[in-house]
Amino acid sequence: DVVSVGNLNFDIYLKVSELPGPDENVEVLDLYTGGGGSAANFSVAAARLGLGVRFIGAVGEDPLGELSLRELRSEGVDVSYVKRVAGVRSGVVIVLVHPDGVKRMLSYRGANLGLSPADLTIEKFRGFRHIHLATGRTELILKAKEIAKEIGATVSLDGGTALAKKGLDIVKAVVNGIDIVFMNQVEAKLLANSHDHKTAVEKLAKELSVRELVVTLGPRGAVAFDGRRLLHVDAFKLDAVDTTGAGDCFAAAYVAMYLRGRDLYEKLLFANAAAAIKVTRPGARSSPRYSEVVAFLES
Ligand code: ADP
Repeated sequence: DVVSVGNLNFDIYLKVSELPGPDENVEVLDLYTGGGGSAANFSVAAARLGLGVRFIGAVGEDPLGELSLRELRSEGVDVSYVKRVAGVRSGVVIVLVHPDGVKRMLSYRGANLGLSPADLTIEKFRGFRHIHLATGRTELILKAKEIAKEIGATVSLDGGTALAKKGLDIVKAVVNGIDIVFMNQVEAKLLANSHDHKTAVEKLAKELSVRELVVTLGPRGAVAFDGRRLLHVDAFKLDAVDTTGAGDCFAAAYVAMYLRGRDLYEKLLFANAAAAIKVTRPGARSSPRYSEVVAFLES
């Protein structure tokens, strides 16, 4: 059903109550490791919701890359077109988590940067009806859009902060004609140069030429605009344990319902429920299966 293009990382979470000074050593209170990277997280979330998913990205020729690919395969994600980049390490993100929940991230993009537009060839996309782009790299977005047009696939984009930082003029040109654009409220405010999310969403709804604009609002839910209606749904009230990957899970669930032809409210509600389940569990890949989301909505 879906090809997901973008980053794959190995995430290392270290819980620390203080940061080391120069030549100092601090004790790590807790350790968690697991797969990450927005496009890879999306792939796992979409596969668990029942979609057939191919992931296109890049790893280095190292054990972490092998481990990451094995994890994706075990989730049923097709990784046969993942690029192996020689002489560089697979992407790694180290997250320092303070006991009060504040996070500090160190990102090594490594092999992810080895994925180039030339790697996005049409035969890797044939037979799929949707392309999800979880990348802020405009050259990859533009190439994937061309391919989508040729094979008649729909396109969604989650460009993250990297894309929002490029400014409204560039983003307007890049997203033009895309079916679904996802962003969180931080990115929306940055892009619209606005302090409150409402004004930001209204401005972006006017400025961006896309079929559906979806802005996630963390514990306040999400809002979507489909060219006619601007709809908001509240988040489910629960104790959030870890919001890493919540946006990726949300996007996967939204796309799953989009491909089933559901209406705007149903898409938002289902995605909101899937992301709510995700935030109650640690790790970027702790997204729910389809049946879990249905049970959650019925409860
Ligand atoms: P990102 O992870 O991309 O920054 P958000 O923080 O906006 O994205 O979260 C994405 C979605 O996850 C939200 O729209 C909501 O559905 C869900 N979510 C996030 N935080 C919470 C929370 N504290 N309680 C319930 N749902 C949440």
